Amino acid sequence: MLERIDRLSVVRTVVLALAIGVLVVAADILTGEEVSFSVFYVIPTALVAWRLGRASALGAAVLAALAWFVVELLGDREYSQPLIPYWNGIVRLAFFGIIAALIVTIRDALREQSENARVDTLTGLLNRRGFDERAQVELERAQRSKRPMTVATFDIDHFKQLNDTAGHAAGDEVLRQVGLSMHAALRRVDVIGRLGGDEFAMLLPETNDEHAHLVIERLHERLMKITADSRIGFSVGAVTFQRPPHSIDLALGRADQLMYAAKGDARGGIRYAIDTPSASVPPEPRHATSSSSASTA
Ligand code: GH3
Ligand code: MG
Repeated sequence: MLERIDRLSVVRTVVLALAIGVLVVAADILTGEEVSFSVFYVIPTALVAWRLGRASALGAAVLAALAWFVVELLGDREYSQPLIPYWNGIVRLAFFGIIAALIVTIRDALREQSENARVDTLTGLLNRRGFDERAQVELERAQRSKRPMTVATFDIDHFKQLNDTAGHAAGDEVLRQVGLSMHAALRRVDVIGRLGGDEFAMLLPETNDEHAHLVIERLHERLMKITADSRIGFSVGAVTFQRPPHSIDLALGRADQLMYAAKGDARGGIRYAIDTPSASVPPEPRHATSSSSASTA
């Protein structure tokens, strides 16, 4: 239900809130004073608060309180003091305002929590869950457009030794620098994440093998400057899909195969592969050395 409200356009939200408001007012007038409709007056304000935020919700709260005030006046009810309907109007406005403020606060807290659950706190990159979700969106886009895409993973070489000799804090700093380097070297549209431990991944939408080579070499150069520790390297596996793969898991699996093959060679190298539309088995790279490229069709 809340997801459906999130997908409503601004205009639809306003029209829907107004329509509900008119219905509530009409029903309240028709049923007379004996039947209470108070809870229904809150619905348009709650809807606007969730979808459009605080300022619009305040407007909706004023409208709802005004509508209720007019309905009350139309009811010809006798009051012991003439100011009582105005007092009641102000109390209702405060009530709608409090409800709107609570809804916006809960909405913002939920959104923040949901975003945090998708971000790796150490590097600021997406975590595995965030990466999978954003990558899935890009995959579906690529499946519709039939454009190529490149998926790459890399793992830090001898990272345990760095932790053991320089300390966990120094290891953490290297991980943070990797995050900064990825942000600096890649585009905003690229999906970049830390899959766990010292393994990172990227999905480059609309990127053919030629561009992928350039981007990944540039990133690799940048990564190599992070630390003066000569043991630290970055083994990369990258695969360009000329037609989008069936799933992100499959794409990551192929990139991982290449990355582990690069580790098996001498560590610190890059293995590339091209997955053509006819390829049904994971591509076997032909060639791998530091900063080398390989293609399989
Ligand atoms: P290889 O060259 O084969 O990649 O070996 P490696 O030493 O890099 O070790 P491996 O990739 O197998 O394991 C990753 C290590 O990363 C294990 C763990 O000690 C360390 N690690 C995982 N998460 C963190 C973290 O958040 N901070 C730090 N400092 N270290 C981490
Ligand atoms: Mg490692």
